Amino acid sequence: QFQATGVETCFHDRHINPQIYAGLNGQNWGIKDYEARGGYAALRKILGKDGSAPNAETGVAGMTQDQVIATVKESGLRGRGGAGFPTGLKWSFMPRQFPGQKYLVCNSDEGEPGTCKDRDIMEYNPHTVIEGMIIAAYAMGISVGYNYIHGEIFHTYERFEAALEEARAAGYLGNNILGSTFSFQLHASHGFGAYICGEETALLESLEGKKGQPRFKPPFPASFGLYGKPTTINNTETFAAVPWIIRNGGQAYLECGKPNNGGTKIFSVSGDVERPGNYEVPMGTPFAKLLELAGGVRGGRKLKAVIPGGSSSPVVPADLMMKLTMDYDSIAKEGGSMLGSGAVIVMDETRCMVKALARLSYFYSHESCGQCTPCREGTGWLWRMVDRIENGQGRASDIDMLDSVAGNIMGRTICALGDAAAMPVRGMLKHFRHEFVHLIEHKTSMVGADATTVKT
Ligand code: SF4
Repeated sequence: QFQATGVETCFHDRHINPQIYAGLNGQNWGIKDYEARGGYAALRKILGKDGSAPNAETGVAGMTQDQVIATVKESGLRGRGGAGFPTGLKWSFMPRQFPGQKYLVCNSDEGEPGTCKDRDIMEYNPHTVIEGMIIAAYAMGISVGYNYIHGEIFHTYERFEAALEEARAAGYLGNNILGSTFSFQLHASHGFGAYICGEETALLESLEGKKGQPRFKPPFPASFGLYGKPTTINNTETFAAVPWIIRNGGQAYLECGKPNNGGTKIFSVSGDVERPGNYEVPMGTPFAKLLELAGGVRGGRKLKAVIPGGSSSPVVPADLMMKLTMDYDSIAKEGGSMLGSGAVIVMDETRCMVKALARLSYFYSHESCGQCTPCREGTGWLWRMVDRIENGQGRASDIDMLDSVAGNIMGRTICALGDAAAMPVRGMLKHFRHEFVHLIEHKTSMVGADATTVKT
């Protein structure tokens, strides 16, 4: 299926999903298999340990820190955790001459409903994350790093720890890596499953052993991060893309995707599809193609709507979604939603949107850290209103009230969780208002098999 895209070479060292990548059976995550696939060649390249000719700029083998950052900038790689910020630019913010300790952090606290890509990357290809982090540390002159792994994935944490041990034993981590003057210590840290710890400053608080609550920004982590020191934080998938970029060049990665949306992206396709799973495709792949890879809508039913970028992204109706391509620009500018973390939740014609929103609103209400009033009170208010509509107790005024509460949360909170709770509400009301009206007026859902059943 992927050969049809014409860019299958992008995937050869980034095997993620054994269902997609026939060569993998879940057993070849280890360092020997990774090296056989070209693993750690990028690290050898930047350290001048691959036997290549001296660098034209410096006269010695290897790449300079500036050259590594320039290559990542050229690749067009954007943060794969949801924000889409240019990675090379973020790396250039690190004050390399800072005299004290600097830190590198991988955000593997994947907890967005619908997202399960980072878990698979760490489980099936952990060394690509480790190699990506070592390269990033070299580029920014950092000697200590942490991978903060979501608390509910125990097996993945153990797998990543085992991969770290392998990398240390092979001389890829620790002091004087591969005989160079560069040293980097990398540790895994297991969270406790709080969604809010995926917010980067809450993650830092948690890493420090404190309650995981977001910090006011500024200052940003680049100047005041872990233990108050300059810190760069990237997502798991972002780091996993780096080795391929260094080996093949920034331009090659950029050309895998489309302008301003370089490379490939892993989409976690879930919901009403025949083959839910993680699919790595070039940026700019039509949504229709991704849906086809996932086996189409389950049971041959009609597509109703899609949440294209994780539960925080506004829902997109089917007819509009089928015209979009899977990249930051198309989803945002044409679809009015967000690519986010790439969690594509597919809903067929039997899905009740009131019920779907009730599930999402409960999640955000439950996961609010409670630090600021609009989020703490507003998310609970949203959930209770949607819940009573779903249960046939809604009032005619509830729809305007929902919109008003969502509007009063947005932009008035310390972190993005408030907006994340409000945006799905506004998206549902924009495109499926009639379902809310119908349930309030008739006390039963207007849709089929999965409809809310209300005893009147
Ligand atoms: Fe906490 Fe919500 Fe405020 Fe974020 S927006 S800091 S989750 S209360």
